[in-house]
Amino acid sequence: MSRSSERLFTPGPVTLPDSVRQAAREPIVYHRTPAFSSTITRCEWFLRELSGAGSRDRALILTASGTGAMEATVMNLLQPGDTAIVVQGGDFGDRFAAICDCHDVKVRPIAVTPGSSCSDAEFDKITGYGADALLVTHHETSTGALHDLAAASRYCRKHGLLLIVDAIGSFLADPINMEELQVDALIFSSQKALALPPGLSFVVLSARAIGLLRARRSRSYYFDFSRHLADLERGQTPFTPAVGLVMQLERRLGDVFAEGAERSIARVAELARDFRGLMEGLPYEFFASVPSNAVTALRPTDGRPATAHVAELLARGFTVCPNGGALAESIFRVGHLGALTPRDNLSLALAMGAARCAAINH
Ligand SMILES: *Cc1c(COP(=O)(O)O)cnc(C)c1O
Repeated sequence: MSRSSERLFTPGPVTLPDSVRQAAREPIVYHRTPAFSSTITRCEWFLRELSGAGSRDRALILTASGTGAMEATVMNLLQPGDTAIVVQGGDFGDRFAAICDCHDVKVRPIAVTPGSSCSDAEFDKITGYGADALLVTHHETSTGALHDLAAASRYCRKHGLLLIVDAIGSFLADPINMEELQVDALIFSSQKALALPPGLSFVVLSARAIGLLRARRSRSYYFDFSRHLADLERGQTPFTPAVGLVMQLERRLGDVFAEGAERSIARVAELARDFRGLMEGLPYEFFASVPSNAVTALRPTDGRPATAHVAELLARGFTVCPNGGALAESIFRVGHLGALTPRDNLSLALAMGAARCAAINH
């Protein structure tokens, strides 16, 4: 296998850092021990620090993909008959709405044109009257667009709404501060900028959200947040977690914390800037008006469908990310997460240039 084919230019899973691969070789331990409780307690502390959480906020570690954490949050913080305002500007906003629908939570959509970002103007058009929560995707990873969380936060304060943020595509790629923005539930997962294998997800709950849980009954047994919070007090999870992934998490969070979250985010931003610069002269337009650092969504302007570009790059050993649904033929995405370097960007850009020449000469 060539070196390039081991490099994933996808938003997740991503190319694992060496330290994570090393941690993955450790033998699995038994989890009901004081040593493993210390691991969970340390991970929880790091997760809160990196989220900018307040001292009374808590971080839950769930063995599930990111969607599991999204559904768990809806099942714990909302009840049938409640109303959620949902920002829908792509697949992941749509998914949040579908989860609400599945649990009989009424959805009041804020429809955003794919590629655009939701900001004050879009929020102001939708009444918050009688609603209970705002569900917003920070980085709508299907289009590369970053929604304006400061605007979301202002809107929630004005209307007294819970602020639930899907930060799966942005955590450690774009800055976020839970306490400043008064986020009530911050959701993210292991396989995006955290650069771990898939399988873990996280929900950092505000003190306010934790208070609400006391008054409500969770409609999930496995994801009952009250039970998770109670076990967290002694550094445990209610059920067997993905032990190996938790061990890798401890290693990775320690590394990120030692480097500093800002530095870690700046590296992703630098890779994104570098890649976008390399696209000059190639037949693509940037799709997102306010892009996340995590991903660049590209719209081919040479008349060939996005799927053809993805297939051609794959044949040259480069894994980029196709789109599904309505955008499948018009855009594809390139990720800037995990153990990538400017050198990898250059290899990919050269392959894109070579693919272009081949298409012209064809
Ligand atoms: C990746 C992603 C998800 C889905 O996560 P899974 O781990 O595949 O369940 C949800 N929301 C956003 C914004 C994402 O980027």
